[in-house]
Amino acid sequence: MALNLVMLGPPGAGKGTQAEQIAKARGIPKISTGDILRAAVHNGTEIGERANDIMARGDLVSDDVMIGIIRERLGQKDADKGFILDGFPRTVAQAAALDEIVKGRDPLVVVEIVVPESELERRLSMRMVCDSCGATADAAAGKAGGRLVQRSDDNDRVVLERLKVYHQRTQPLVEYYQMRPTFRSVNGLQPPDRVAADLIAAIESAGRGVAAKGVRP
Ligand code: AMP
Repeated sequence: MALNLVMLGPPGAGKGTQAEQIAKARGIPKISTGDILRAAVHNGTEIGERANDIMARGDLVSDDVMIGIIRERLGQKDADKGFILDGFPRTVAQAAALDEIVKGRDPLVVVEIVVPESELERRLSMRMVCDSCGATADAAAGKAGGRLVQRSDDNDRVVLERLKVYHQRTQPLVEYYQMRPTFRSVNGLQPPDRVAADLIAAIESAGRGVAAKGVRP
């Protein structure tokens, strides 16, 4: 069965780092809409120019644009044998569109990483990224050789806005997905290797649920 994984969780929950590891282990692409948008901004594309201000204030880029990006990306050959979505969907409209896009494939496995609000604020205000490749500090070590800087949308005011937007627009996705036999929650308030182990166990148990029930998307 192909692993078609959606990582849910607030900014700062560790989704990106965990998604990266699972993608590497499984040999499937990690698709981060934040990374795709940052690359578009960097390259000065039309989407990048439109997204720049929205991202800088911690708001969400429009559903139409995001759905278009994901439709195109999941249509590429390397996503046939599975994928990990990091940062998409972020709204119920995006989730509904995703169900449509993946119709006929193996069912989505959705894992939520749960982390309390106070811990998120602390982590985001400390997060450092490589100014050359954008990777977080631990992942960046020794890679692109860039300087470690604070991500431009990790300053205090924008962090609070991103958390607010998460609660208003993205948290409802838990309700959207939680009745599915392939939905799991993982405690993100643990050392990263424990979170990783719990994630692997959650993905395996979700996969067994699908096999047992013959669930289709
Ligand atoms: P991230 O790296 O996932 O935290 O995303 C950084 C920023 O990109 C977000 O704060 C949004 O402005 C934008 N963004 C990323 N993914 C989405 C999405 N699925 N829908 C709307 N905006 C997004």
